[in-house]
Amino acid sequence: MTSVTLPFPRTAKYGQPERDAVLRLLDSGHLSETGRGPTTASLENAFAELTESRHALSFNSGTASIHAALHAVGIRDGETVALSPMTWISAVTAVFQAGGVPHFCDIEPDTPNLDPAALVGLDNSCSAVLVTHAWGVPARMDLIVEATGMPVVEDCSHAHGARYRGRPVGSWGTAGCFSLQESKAVSGGEGGVLVTSDRRVYESALTLGHHPSRLAAELTHADLLPLVQTGAAYKFRMPALSAGIAREQLRGLAARSEAAEQNLAILAQVLRHHDAPVSFPALDECSSRGWYGTPLIIVGPVGDSAALFDLAVARGLPLRRMYPDWLRTPLLQERDLLQRFWPHARAYSPPSPSEFPNYYQARRQTFLLKVPHVPAADYMEQVGTVMARLLDEVTHLS
Ligand SMILES: *Cc1c(COP(=O)(O)O)cnc(C)c1O
Repeated sequence: MTSVTLPFPRTAKYGQPERDAVLRLLDSGHLSETGRGPTTASLENAFAELTESRHALSFNSGTASIHAALHAVGIRDGETVALSPMTWISAVTAVFQAGGVPHFCDIEPDTPNLDPAALVGLDNSCSAVLVTHAWGVPARMDLIVEATGMPVVEDCSHAHGARYRGRPVGSWGTAGCFSLQESKAVSGGEGGVLVTSDRRVYESALTLGHHPSRLAAELTHADLLPLVQTGAAYKFRMPALSAGIAREQLRGLAARSEAAEQNLAILAQVLRHHDAPVSFPALDECSSRGWYGTPLIIVGPVGDSAALFDLAVARGLPLRRMYPDWLRTPLLQERDLLQRFWPHARAYSPPSPSEFPNYYQARRQTFLLKVPHVPAADYMEQVGTVMARLLDEVTHLS
């Protein structure tokens, strides 16, 4: 078999529960909860529970939640935030939005995540760390927290419900941020959630863009009280429709993740059976992946990786394209572009790509596999057979 012939198994993204939630809101006559209204509170409580955190705060995007988290952990005035380039662009631009400047660090050789070793010695030059659990693989949070005295913000936008060493992602750092954009494992259409167990961080995150009625109800810290009538008025709160939909989406998350994990296990077994030259980032038994595609690492030479990607897609393999290389994107190369948006960005100088051997290796060697979130044994067996055959052909060519 050379091509995948079965259709990608999926169920409708939104079902009856989401429909009912939307209709309930329309019938209530209120789609905007300026305070911590019932729909907002229900979603926030569910995220606090999911991440075993004291507080959760909803936003109208994941990007806004990262901006607020960086502000809340104290990023001001050109301070530097360490992060890896293996993330979505708005994790990088959120650093500028918060008034900071990114400092890029390489990833680990065997995972798509920030290398804890890259943080050693940065405490004097950086003020915070932003860690993305890339493609659902939990970052080594114990080592990251150990390697630095800086506050750590987790970008969990690929990793809803994932755990690292028994603890939910989002609960390891000072704050965790989740995007609820539609392509993510929990969708509100659009939206974001910040979780933290630090009351001060929660209140400070509120001041960026939540409504004064919510600020009045919740702010207690003396230095934040002068903001009670205004905040910074960025207008970051989540529409109630998004919160209502996301609340329903969250109920099925565990079942979807479980199905995806089983699908991946079936694929891995087929690939092993064919001795295919691939590996998956290893997780210990107390850790579990989140789902936004999953990385599959090709072991050995791949030649032209863009051509291989095109060939794989032509054979029907369900692959997600790797993000562009932000280190070389015009916005982060040309200072006048950056300064159009953020005058303080004059403090940023693009690093040399030679400082990121693992990141570039991963870009060449990684397939981002879309895994169905419903049981799909036949499909996964077909994908495994087609992939093994393709890799066999390619290896024999090179
Ligand atoms: C989607 C995403 C974001 C941004 O979230 P939005 O809700 O689209 O603003 C940030 N970081 C990562 C890693 C993402 O995947």
